[in-house]
Amino acid sequence: MENSTLAIVVPCFNEEAVLPQTNERLASLLNAMINDRQVGEGSYILYVDDGSRDNTWSLIERCGGSHVRGLKLAGNVGHQNALMAGLETARLDADVTVSIDADLQDDINAIPEMIRKFDAGCDIVYGVRRSRQADSFFKRTTAQAFYRFMTNMGAKSVYNHADFRLMSRRAVDALCQYDERNLYLRGLVPLLGYQTDTVYYDRSERQSGKSKYTFGKMLSLAVDGVTSFSVKPLRLIFYLGAVFLLISLAILVYVIVALCKGNGVPGWASLMLSIWFVGGCMLMCLSVLAAYVGRIYTEGKHRPRYHIEKYLK
Ligand code: UDP
Ligand code: MG
Repeated sequence: MENSTLAIVVPCFNEEAVLPQTNERLASLLNAMINDRQVGEGSYILYVDDGSRDNTWSLIERCGGSHVRGLKLAGNVGHQNALMAGLETARLDADVTVSIDADLQDDINAIPEMIRKFDAGCDIVYGVRRSRQADSFFKRTTAQAFYRFMTNMGAKSVYNHADFRLMSRRAVDALCQYDERNLYLRGLVPLLGYQTDTVYYDRSERQSGKSKYTFGKMLSLAVDGVTSFSVKPLRLIFYLGAVFLLISLAILVYVIVALCKGNGVPGWASLMLSIWFVGGCMLMCLSVLAAYVGRIYTEGKHRPRYHIEKYLK
């Protein structure tokens, strides 16, 4: 059997600090895999420059070799879109892809094991973190709270798996049929239904440079994740409304009883409090609605997810 062509897809945003080290390690791993005949001669690493404003692209150009390619996007479109750009490009000539972050927090030595599972017939292999000791306390707790929240909201996702995964060409082809703009890949991939397996690894610290996922970006990924996989928040608004209605009925009973007893009902403070409380809750509910409406708006426009400026092979 011909060995499969592997493409390792690496989205990079302002990663000049870590890229030389990343390339050295990935290239030597890939060479070893080619020499062991685990993957074909034509295998390559595909760096996707997500509109970096530093020297990332010139470093990618300098990495150039027979097994390194670069895809330069015309602007910063975010990690998920950049990854999608890489996968859509790689599926044209690769039999199998592995996506991995540029900062080498994910253990690259899990890749040969992923390939073994692919050879055994799996279309999707998830890289799952055995522990999160290397993450900061804040990152660890927010990430875990997020996975729980997603599960409670009814959106299927693999616990402690981010975007380190192997996908066969037909799995990537299937993924490309999902035409949505609000991409949340780790939620979409389990929907494909192909045979999956898992490889466990220890997550290390970022090798160099700073996290490109600011708190704002993390939050927007979380909101994308929930809104594109679940309408439960909309249903929760109904229950909140029902609770409020019950509270108002209880207050009504209280007022009637007080009036029947000939007592006045003390007014101003409780009135102000409830107006502000109910007003606040209504605005929050409106914002949940707005999150969905806003997404209908962006989905409806069908704008392209990214534009390619250069493809270096
Ligand atoms: N990234 C990207 N575009 C962005 C933000 C991040 O392509 O707008 C890439 C980044 O270069 C890295 C990966 O996404 O390869 C994950 O980012 P990072 O390691 O900073 O996130 P963290 O591990 O802190 O969640
Ligand atoms: Mg990282």
